[in-house]
Amino acid sequence: MTEQISNHEVRDTIIVGTGCAGLTAAIYAARSNLKPLVLEGHEPGGQLSITTLVENFPGWPEGIQGPQLIENMRVQASRFGANFRMGHLSSVDLSKRPFALHVGKEVLHTRTLIIASGASARWLGLPSEQALIGHGVSSCATCDGFFFSGKEIAVVGGGDSAMEEALFLTRFATKVTVIHRREHFRASRIMLERAMAHEKIHFLTNTAVEEVLGVEEKEVSGLRLRNLVTLEESILMVSALFLGIGHEPNAKMFAGQLDLDDDGYIRTHQNVFTRVPGVFACGDVQDRRYRQAITAAGTGCMAALETEKFLEEHGR
Ligand code: NAP
Repeated sequence: MTEQISNHEVRDTIIVGTGCAGLTAAIYAARSNLKPLVLEGHEPGGQLSITTLVENFPGWPEGIQGPQLIENMRVQASRFGANFRMGHLSSVDLSKRPFALHVGKEVLHTRTLIIASGASARWLGLPSEQALIGHGVSSCATCDGFFFSGKEIAVVGGGDSAMEEALFLTRFATKVTVIHRREHFRASRIMLERAMAHEKIHFLTNTAVEEVLGVEEKEVSGLRLRNLVTLEESILMVSALFLGIGHEPNAKMFAGQLDLDDDGYIRTHQNVFTRVPGVFACGDVQDRRYRQAITAAGTGCMAALETEKFLEEHGR
């Protein structure tokens, strides 16, 4: 077992996550002089940092690039005194006060905790898919699309993420095939219509990916597909597969200490309260319904305001 170094400083608040929710909480907590420590995991900036143009965040009539929006929030939080620290949160102890957070070899202590750990891309779970991640299988079109210039690409999923990825990939690909397991799409009408109107985008509905081809060559060469109505099998020759099938909440480490729902989201009441007083959750780790940048920012703000109130009520 690795040796743990206990840091005896007890902080007023620690914020876990640097996406839209965490950074908004950091801006509010820092402006309230709580000197928040903001823990940054292995997906800094959260989902906005791997998206392209955000057209629906109020205040940006022409839209703003996701990474720029995140950078602006970070600068804003730093300006008011938020401290950032890279580190993987491996476990927490919320049974005693102050709460203990294990980050690498260190144990950090805090009176309150704001969980804004977000959600991560979901995978199909096929062994061939897992073997080819980084070799033509990706969950991030903005990160990896460029590598497939002049190639044919497939995107799996039927929601807004899949449409957004497909549209973005038309910049590079000669053809993008969207593969969806049902006839009907979950995507918003505007996104679906945009994708359907694009000459480079083709659709395969009622279809599942059963295998990604190219494992031995360590390079995606195609997909083995199954039509879920006729049960017919087919091969689609593509150089890359992008996943656009949603996200999983990053809440596993809180299991047993906080209430999680069947899909692993942290259950909250009155928006951001968890079952442990002084522990608040905001953004995509607790929101399975809206999952928007603006709603994540909204709950981040609420979590910081409730944290301040909690500390005040407990004599800080
Ligand atoms: P989503 O709406 O939950 O859609 C996920 C899609 O992936 C669904 O079509 C689902 O199929 C499919 N899927 C899930 N698991 C699968 C599996 N194992 N195999 C095959 N297909 C699978 O997720 P999302 O598209 O990431 O969107 C999440 C939220 O973010 C939404 O509120 C969305 O509006 C928002 N968003 C907005 C924008 C934008 O406005 N620019 C961009 C991205 C996301 P079924 O339909 O059969 O369940």
